[in-house]
Amino acid sequence: MGLVGRFHEYNSDVLIFVNHAVGYETFEIMFKSWHLQGMLIAETVTFGGSGLDRAAHLRSDAARLAQDNAARVVVFWRGKVLQAQSDDLARLALDHPMLKSARAEMIYLGQEGDQPLFAADISTWVPEGFDADAPRVFLDDTRQTHPTLPDAGFAEIRAIMTRLTPRDAEVAATGKAILEWHRGHRFCAKCGAPSQIAMAGWQRDCATCGGHHFPRTDPVVIMLITSGNSVLMGRSPGWPEGMYSLLAGFVEPGETIEAAVRREVFEEAGVHVGQVSYLASQPWPFPASLMMGCAGIASSTDITLDPDEIEDALWVTREDMVSVFAGQHPLIKPARKGAIAHFLLENWLADRLD
Ligand SMILES: [Zn+2]
Repeated sequence: MGLVGRFHEYNSDVLIFVNHAVGYETFEIMFKSWHLQGMLIAETVTFGGSGLDRAAHLRSDAARLAQDNAARVVVFWRGKVLQAQSDDLARLALDHPMLKSARAEMIYLGQEGDQPLFAADISTWVPEGFDADAPRVFLDDTRQTHPTLPDAGFAEIRAIMTRLTPRDAEVAATGKAILEWHRGHRFCAKCGAPSQIAMAGWQRDCATCGGHHFPRTDPVVIMLITSGNSVLMGRSPGWPEGMYSLLAGFVEPGETIEAAVRREVFEEAGVHVGQVSYLASQPWPFPASLMMGCAGIASSTDITLDPDEIEDALWVTREDMVSVFAGQHPLIKPARKGAIAHFLLENWLADRLD
């Protein structure tokens, strides 16, 4: 049984215990341990959420919120987020001079206590000496500093994600995803006319045909496929040497999560999958995915690669995975911390998945 189902099972047990009036301390200790084992494990994944109050009912009133002196702004530049000298995201006041470079309207992210929180995009700013034609790297660890706030720097979210608090991770993922959506959806998909930002950034409207457009999230399945004591790992062409991960793929229209898992694994590796269960999800704003982590039981083990999709796939035993995590495996490097693949593999190794 997956993490979620397990929590529900425990949840009904909790009620039974309460009804039998067990001592509160006993109940508290048991409940804490259930929390650690149950659904809340699924929410400890990076970008797993922090309960940010998105206050959707205030979105139509964003102009007034943007006059609030208590409001704060998280700043994005070309997909990177502004990080203070500590690991925290920088939260600027509305009158900060950096925001003079802000493009278009700010996005209202929600409330932090009494403070409205916005995201602003200053991607039109060009840092001094910046080489826009520099070749793209797998993970950009350069940091750009704006002259109005020399202590802070713009950082690639994947490079800093494991050091962010759950709140900052949720804010960074949300702001990046929605700003990317605006960047790629400037025209009405129904009639082709330019569309305008509405509802504090959570909608785009077309004045020509009256169409409304809403932010997109693309569902992706990522799967821990096991056969006995082994897990199926693969690597895509172009990945850094030694990088292997769980297989993953987009859910297609008209398809269930379970069917997408079985189809992707068969297409990429030629392995048949029987039972599939859902484990945990992770918003992955690179640029707009929701990763849905699943477990699947293989019903065949022979691997037939689709070279257009993956370069290599192999079965890795638990013992070998321990040496991968220890950085001692001769072929495979450890999965990147913060990605859901790492999270699922770590919980599989610790036998916390079922
Ligand atoms: Zn239109």
